[in-house]
Amino acid sequence: ATGAPLLEVRGLAYDYGRVTAVQDCGFEAAAGGVVALIGGNGAGKTTTVQCVAGALRPRAGTIRFDGRDITGLPAHEAVELGLALVPEGRQVFQQLTVHENLLVAGRVQRARADLSANLDKVYTLFPRLKERRAQNAGSLSGGEQQMLAIGRGLMTGPRLLILDEPSLGLSPILVTTIFRLIGALNAEGITILIVEQNLHQTLTMADHAYVLEKGRVVRSGGGRELLDDPAVKAAYLGVA
Ligand code: ATP
Repeated sequence: ATGAPLLEVRGLAYDYGRVTAVQDCGFEAAAGGVVALIGGNGAGKTTTVQCVAGALRPRAGTIRFDGRDITGLPAHEAVELGLALVPEGRQVFQQLTVHENLLVAGRVQRARADLSANLDKVYTLFPRLKERRAQNAGSLSGGEQQMLAIGRGLMTGPRLLILDEPSLGLSPILVTTIFRLIGALNAEGITILIVEQNLHQTLTMADHAYVLEKGRVVRSGGGRELLDDPAVKAAYLGVA
């Protein structure tokens, strides 16, 4: 415990037109930790992390990263500070090859000097991507595209890696692989903020977790503590 958290979110709010997706949402992530946002469909998890990463501009609230107010900072500037979002779904450049996708991501200023080292690292973590480096990203399987999306995040040399539903659509064996990988990245010192519906594996790994409901944090605690919480189980199962 060394003072201020790496990420601190207070009073966050976001509206899609007249639909309020996030309101008075607050949470934090200690440097070197794994923090999870959980909750049912439409709880506001994706909107929250998109605000944090600068993909969406919040209506209210403050976001502090490494002691600096980054509220409203656009995504390309947030990346330069070491904050990388791996978006939900297949948001890689479909028409570019695997290799080109990684190169484009690695061209940010903060990671440019480490480009070849980062490429080696990603290809070592994901031999499958190395095999398919010349293949168009659009022709990869869902799991391979998810690996590529994570690889793109790693190419930016992140201090905070935000993962939005990294296990979505993956086979059980790949889910286990992805969670193991996230644990390894965290062990290397990357702080992790993860949005997941995969309750068991997520809470087992998270130091701290926040339950979102209707855009607000309704409960928080240690990962394992929440895993044993009947109310969390009931709410979660109610969604499935
Ligand atoms: P899921 O787990 O289903 O992905 P989530 O917790 O990530 O859900 P969000 O995607 O942040 O939730 O959505 C929060 C609310 O905002 C939902 O009610 C959703 O319908 C609404 N919403 C999200 N995106 C839009 C949009 N582009 N336009 C209008 N409403 C939106």
